[in-house]
Amino acid sequence: MQGNGLDAYVGGVVYRGAGPIAGAAAGAAAVLVRSVGGADYRLPHTGLTQYAPDVQKVPAAAVTAEDANLLKDLASQGPVKMRLVLTPQTLPDALSYNVIADWKGTEHPEQVVVVSGHLDSWDLGTGAIDDGAGVVVSMQAIHLLKGLGIHPKRTVRFIAWMSEEEGSEGAAAYMMDHKADAATHIGAIESDLGADHPTGIYYSGKGELGQWLRPVAQVLDPIGAESLVSAPDTGEDIAGLTEKGVPSFAPVQDSRFYFNYHHTAADTFDKVDPMHLNENAAVMTVLAYALADSAEPAPR
Ligand SMILES: [Zn+2]
Repeated sequence: MQGNGLDAYVGGVVYRGAGPIAGAAAGAAAVLVRSVGGADYRLPHTGLTQYAPDVQKVPAAAVTAEDANLLKDLASQGPVKMRLVLTPQTLPDALSYNVIADWKGTEHPEQVVVVSGHLDSWDLGTGAIDDGAGVVVSMQAIHLLKGLGIHPKRTVRFIAWMSEEEGSEGAAAYMMDHKADAATHIGAIESDLGADHPTGIYYSGKGELGQWLRPVAQVLDPIGAESLVSAPDTGEDIAGLTEKGVPSFAPVQDSRFYFNYHHTAADTFDKVDPMHLNENAAVMTVLAYALADSAEPAPR
């Protein structure tokens, strides 16, 4: 779909995630997948790979698109023998933290609007677009509101989630700590689809949210970010809040190029266009302001 790499990624990533389990169950010695990415730069893409407790753990790796094509050609000519040298290691768990900062609301400090991105990244690149950009635009939401002299009624809570890539352990810890107060979470936003031009807002929750978002879309129309897209999920780290009925949101971003770099050695700061980053900060800020300062909380 034009401009919507996310849908393509969701369709392809299952082979990387579940491939090792399916392969081992079928008797494979190892599992190789074609990298789940959009470009042919001969860059391998890493990412979450799953094992099941009752299925033998087999080595698993992603090969570049070019090498996947080569393997396919060779395999069509007869049996292929490969020697795998895989260097990744799984280290023991270590203590780590979500980074959380509250800007207390003036009237309802107990009511919380979450603006967030995730702090961790894969180690091949620097993680500038996945998800440095999401963390930055979330920080910008509070920074811009302060700069504009706007202090909302409700608390705006910045969260940089830890360990999204490993399976959202930081988000799980947050949900444990906040078991009792889902009702006071008025809305949650996560940006985790890069830093490219935003075209609108994904929302998850009641159908009425679409109506509620109309004025927000109008404000964002001049930067071309006016589309409103209902989605079952909005972000990996806020999925627990979505499940508890908290209205949740994410910027819709042009993801034509995101998956060329995502989870590769090429996820570096030069991929971030300052103007697009500012547009994403605008989406985050306008939406956070609407959620945090509306007369009535968003429908849930
Ligand atoms: Zn991410």
